[in-house]
Amino acid sequence: MDPDSDACSQYQQACHAASQAFSVSIIAVVFTACQQHEPKIVVVPGNKKHPAGDSPITAIKKVIPPKKIGKTIYLSFDDGPNKGTRNMMHIIKEEAVPVTLFIIGEQVYYGREQRALFDSLSHSPYFEIANHSYTHAFHNHYARFYQEPEGVINDFKRCADSLHLSSQIIRTPGRNIWRVGNINSTDLKASKATADSLAAVGYTEMGWDLEWQFDNQNKLKFGADEMLDRIDKFFINHLNRTDGHLVLLAHDQTFADAADSSELSQLIKKLKAKNCYEFETVNKYPGVNR
Ligand SMILES: [Zn+2]
Repeated sequence: MDPDSDACSQYQQACHAASQAFSVSIIAVVFTACQQHEPKIVVVPGNKKHPAGDSPITAIKKVIPPKKIGKTIYLSFDDGPNKGTRNMMHIIKEEAVPVTLFIIGEQVYYGREQRALFDSLSHSPYFEIANHSYTHAFHNHYARFYQEPEGVINDFKRCADSLHLSSQIIRTPGRNIWRVGNINSTDLKASKATADSLAAVGYTEMGWDLEWQFDNQNKLKFGADEMLDRIDKFFINHLNRTDGHLVLLAHDQTFADAADSSELSQLIKKLKAKNCYEFETVNKYPGVNR
């Protein structure tokens, strides 16, 4: 059934019911976000009786604006700058949404193109730059990296110094670790001592709630529709670490592919169209010291 014509017919029935009852009624059009997309029409019976011989009843239409329901998405991109960063940057600028980039220090110095890219990201209002270590766990040697807390602290410090980062927000490579406000979680026990050491020297370790996964060819495993569904379900089922807030992890390298870039663009457009999500950078996440 066409929702518009259904809503229209409900409206006509409501007006008819009001005149039959000879009472003044308030037609309230209630907009609900996310769960219900069509306006719902509610008839609230008035208490004034229609005076005999008076002019025809006029229904009062009251439009209640959609209330802000406080669902925030923190879109974050890891591992740049790399071959997918430029496409991602164009999409984010086009969609004009704030996002956070967890940058690998040494990749900024791989060449002129990477440096230029980092400079333009740093000067754009849409990108918050955060620390993803200098070497990305000694080039993905996670077990060895996390064995030595001092070495890990130094790697993050090296990244912060070389990129002149003022933010203390970091994301640990290859580990979903949270040390944010009252949230304290470590996905692998072996990394706990190092995670605690990073927190002890003042870093805010930002993990993620949901990942936009990719395969070994750097292709996205799910399209925009599937991700949209997953995001909706995350909020509906209250799976987030903080209710009403979702940290989404994506990786720059997946957007080197034109088709996957289009999925990113589609996902953001579809999230906006829901009219109940807002976007923020992770420094606005509850409990983050600013
Ligand atoms: Zn990474």
